[in-house]
Amino acid sequence: MQLSTVVVTEFMTNCFILVDEQTKQALVIDPGGEPDRILREIETMGLEVLAVVNTHAHVDHIGALREIKKATGAQIMMHVSELPLLQSASRMGRLFGVHIEQPPDPDRFLVDSDQIQCGSITLTVIETPGHSPGGISLVTADGKYCFAGDTLFAGSIGRTDLPGGDYNTLINSIKTKLLPLGDDVKVLPGHGPATSMGTERRYNPFL
Ligand SMILES: [Zn+2]
Ligand SMILES: [Zn+2]
Repeated sequence: MQLSTVVVTEFMTNCFILVDEQTKQALVIDPGGEPDRILREIETMGLEVLAVVNTHAHVDHIGALREIKKATGAQIMMHVSELPLLQSASRMGRLFGVHIEQPPDPDRFLVDSDQIQCGSITLTVIETPGHSPGGISLVTADGKYCFAGDTLFAGSIGRTDLPGGDYNTLINSIKTKLLPLGDDVKVLPGHGPATSMGTERRYNPFL
């Protein structure tokens, strides 16, 4: 698996592009904005995007959904509990001072243990609510990488003061769903630098 990261918008959202090198098929995780930059990367690498997977539907993670879908025809996937957030994207955008045209509805709703296939890449869905009601994390089949969205950051955790957020639910998600994946798993958060489960288990002040 080849991994490319495009950091987008003033929210500095990590948009990940996962590439199966053999087939050049790709998954895009959290296209938060600046679709031109994401699409340029996709074009430069000569990729066929099969799906856009959203860890959750906050405005800083969905800003380029519409354009990526339009340009690539990729399926959009997220948890059903994120639908209200997605459908209020324009209003939420105004709240955060960004203009977002209403994104399309998802093509596939994800639940815990679902698998997403892209060439030789398999992602497994882990429900990790707390930062938002239908927040998910995605772990690769080799157990090496966990895309954690805004659930877990290097030295921090997601905020829980937005609609549908809940602190205890978030801590429970991290402790019962993410940390047990193992200390060696590399964590790729929705914002900021990568870390590992072991580092966060030992040093994250919120845990
Ligand atoms: Zn968020
Ligand atoms: Zn975010």
